[in-house]
Amino acid sequence: MKFVFEPSQIPAGVTREEWNDWAWQLRHSLKTEADFVKAGFELSREEFEGFSGGGKVFQIRTTPYYASLASKSVAMDPVRRILMPTASELAHGRQSMLDPLGEKRNNPAPRIIHRYPDRLLFLVTDTCSVYCRYCTRKHFTGQDEAFVRSADYEKALDYIRSRKGLREVILSGGDPLTLGDAVLDRVLSDLRAIDHVEIIRIGSRMPVVCPMRVTPSLARVLQKHQPVYLMTHFNHPRELTAEAAAGLRLLADHGTPMFNQLVLLNGVNNHPAIIQALSRRLLYLRVKPYYMFQCDPSEGTDHLRTSVEDSLAIQRELWGSLSGLAMPNLSLDIPDGGGKAAYVPNFEVAREGAVRKFIGWDGVEAEYVSPPPESILKPLDAETFFAEWDALKNAKA
Ligand code: SF4
Repeated sequence: MKFVFEPSQIPAGVTREEWNDWAWQLRHSLKTEADFVKAGFELSREEFEGFSGGGKVFQIRTTPYYASLASKSVAMDPVRRILMPTASELAHGRQSMLDPLGEKRNNPAPRIIHRYPDRLLFLVTDTCSVYCRYCTRKHFTGQDEAFVRSADYEKALDYIRSRKGLREVILSGGDPLTLGDAVLDRVLSDLRAIDHVEIIRIGSRMPVVCPMRVTPSLARVLQKHQPVYLMTHFNHPRELTAEAAAGLRLLADHGTPMFNQLVLLNGVNNHPAIIQALSRRLLYLRVKPYYMFQCDPSEGTDHLRTSVEDSLAIQRELWGSLSGLAMPNLSLDIPDGGGKAAYVPNFEVAREGAVRKFIGWDGVEAEYVSPPPESILKPLDAETFFAEWDALKNAKA
């Protein structure tokens, strides 16, 4: 099956050239109630209240492109729920945390979040082109510091240099692709100059909310410093427009591996049909569906969070309809920096000794008999890899 990706609707009075220029998109961001009304949005009372208070909790901003994907008249529209503040953000939440991942406690150098021995986050900017209402990092995002101050930048690099156990650096923020190509090139060059940094990841929502950012020049910058993995953040099939598809094709053609991390959001994408459609289309565009996250209990997000039971039911439904390649892994970030808890459907229904009994997704019943523990051998060449294994395990975070 060939998927068709529809182009976005360019508003009257805007030229195609302007629309396809990412700098124009950022300059013409919608930030205020008046901007949205001028763009044709019929705001509900809840949304009006959101503008008067929500913006104080968390900045409001969207590109004209992303706004064009939202319904102008239906407040329950999935894209609109992602970008529009509402009074619900001000309600007292069931669990409401400014820093749900406990990042401030794992912050050994400016702009560095270091939780695991072999990888860390480097927050190169706090700016995003769209402030998603469910954002996990509201404690940091949107303070309008486009690029990390140079003294902090050097301290962050020194920290990365000093940690020999590091293998991966994840550029995050904010959105690193709001930075220009020259700045990105410099950051990637500085990281590539560090011998123990093997993998660089960039987490970005720009391919979703401002796909015109994906230019041939950007694709060449990422290609130059490979392996650079791009972690995209599509939440809904409607975000996969012709422009988004063109950007993803360009990056894939330049050899950038891409993985998608979605967040399950109440009234937005919490249905197996939507996740299936999104995953199939992403895979077709050479983006591997990677994580399906439970929404973090960030401040003002109660109305966007699904229950864990709802998420598990979605995942179980997907099991029979998506291949492993297309399947995103359901995961929850344990609050306060506890790391990830992964969920997979449990098809094991009984166990007796070495015999385990299963009922598969479509009702097939069968047993699996494990070999006895005394028959388990160590691979002959394991010694060769011991040093690397020990070094990683012993590296101190
Ligand atoms: S793009 Fe990412 S960091 Fe920025 S507001 Fe959205 S979720 Fe938060």
